Amino acid sequence: MFNSLLDILYPRRCPVCSEIVDIRGELSCIECRKKLIFIEEPKCKRCGKPLEQDNKEYCYDCEKKSRDFTRGIALWLYNKEMKKSMADFKNHGRREYAEFYTEELLKACKEEIMDISPDALVPVPIHKKKLMERGYNQADVLARSIGDKLEIPVLSELLVRKKDTLPQKQLNDKERMRNLAEAFDFSHTERSSFRKKLNKVLLVDDIYTTGSTMEACARILKNNGINEVYFVTVCIGKGY
Ligand SMILES: [Zn+2]
Ligand SMILES: [Zn+2]
Repeated sequence: MFNSLLDILYPRRCPVCSEIVDIRGELSCIECRKKLIFIEEPKCKRCGKPLEQDNKEYCYDCEKKSRDFTRGIALWLYNKEMKKSMADFKNHGRREYAEFYTEELLKACKEEIMDISPDALVPVPIHKKKLMERGYNQADVLARSIGDKLEIPVLSELLVRKKDTLPQKQLNDKERMRNLAEAFDFSHTERSSFRKKLNKVLLVDDIYTTGSTMEACARILKNNGINEVYFVTVCIGKGY
């Protein structure tokens, strides 16, 4: 009753085309969902990027670079449709899209996440300045939504972004790493207020592209005594 009233007052918008969804109980248009490409094999055994040939175990980046995370899970390819959806989710206030992403993510990857059985979910943090502009951290919104459904605690403050880094795209590899090495802090206060074991952590973010942000987060977690770091994202780029 309450939900259907909410639907009338605030009609749901499709996270793909941003039009009003006219089918009751659906979080997106049926047709739009067909435009999203699920990540399937063959994929990189480390980061989970889809690969073109199945004669490779790892993508070019994971072969070349050291990785502090054990493995990554991603739901969809970061294609044209998802680029728009992610931009609306992140920058245009459509935080409610998290519900759709979570529903789809758990349909496809719940077992894989439960197999990892992380002690906590940790969103990739954004800088305070960005948080003020946007009003929320999209990764935190996602982590809470997933954590809610799977009953896994979320440690939103475990990682802190202390430097508002330059857009990574304009930088080369070396500059990227330098840029990111100092960008995150580990909160010992948050760690000690969590009175359970914290051996295994699942990082949560909206998109995985070069992997340098995830790598920087994984590294600082491991440097602070977390034994295993995994990650999950809604979208991922293509591997080669
Ligand atoms: Zn649609
Ligand atoms: Zn990879």
